[in-house]
Amino acid sequence: MTEPTLSVCQLAKDYVTADGTLSILKSLDLTMQRGEALAITGPSGSGKSTLLYMLGALDSPTAGRIQLEGCDPFQLNAAQQAEFRNRQIGFIFQDHHLLPQCNVLENVLIPTLPGAGATPESEARARELLGRVGLAERMGHRPAQLSGGERQRVAVCRALINRPALLLADEPTGNLDRSTAEAVGSLLLDLNREQNTLLICVTHSIELAHRFPRHCELQDGRLVDRESVNTVPVRG
Ligand code: ADP
Ligand code: MG
Repeated sequence: MTEPTLSVCQLAKDYVTADGTLSILKSLDLTMQRGEALAITGPSGSGKSTLLYMLGALDSPTAGRIQLEGCDPFQLNAAQQAEFRNRQIGFIFQDHHLLPQCNVLENVLIPTLPGAGATPESEARARELLGRVGLAERMGHRPAQLSGGERQRVAVCRALINRPALLLADEPTGNLDRSTAEAVGSLLLDLNREQNTLLICVTHSIELAHRFPRHCELQDGRLVDRESVNTVPVRG
């Protein structure tokens, strides 16, 4: 059996507040192999964003371990951790966070700047990705000249430019109308297959979650596979 690409073991996250300690994630386990796609749903405030931030090494766990392709980002020093994030992680947020003063092509190339910079190879890849998402004619446009769905497609290309092992999406369709949301959802799933990344997508949309090969719910600080969610007795 091959080693899992992503292994999350007994992950816990507490926030210490003036009103006491909040235990948001509790002994959470997850393993995924390269090419897998997982949708995560759960009530607002259940810790979905907290989990993605830790998977993306943007915030550190209180306890437990995360390994991506054999590397635990929390064992790295700050500079190595920044490089890990830049190389291995692609992040897509609810809001695209594109730079308004840069055009589409420049926005997609931003994650390449800390490394070798925008080389002819990275520019060719950016053009290829933008063509793939139907924006070949829009490369010189600024974000303000695009629709919400188009901006989110640019954000998807930016997240993929460095060929990350893990693509994290936090409610990527939350601000889009229904048909645009459906198209962005399809794009994420298609690109996950084509680029052989790991994809973890947090969503409020049960329709979108059902289109994923695997769907977990964040319940009381742990991930529960959706099949078994149905067996939990409903209270109240
Ligand atoms: P979700 O994305 O599922 O809506 P979050 O992960 O954003 O939930 O937040 C989970 C819980 O943790 C919420 O109750 C939130 O208020 C709390 N929380 C998030 N960040 C902090 C923080 N820095 N300090 C204290 N509490 C926090
Ligand atoms: Mg959230």
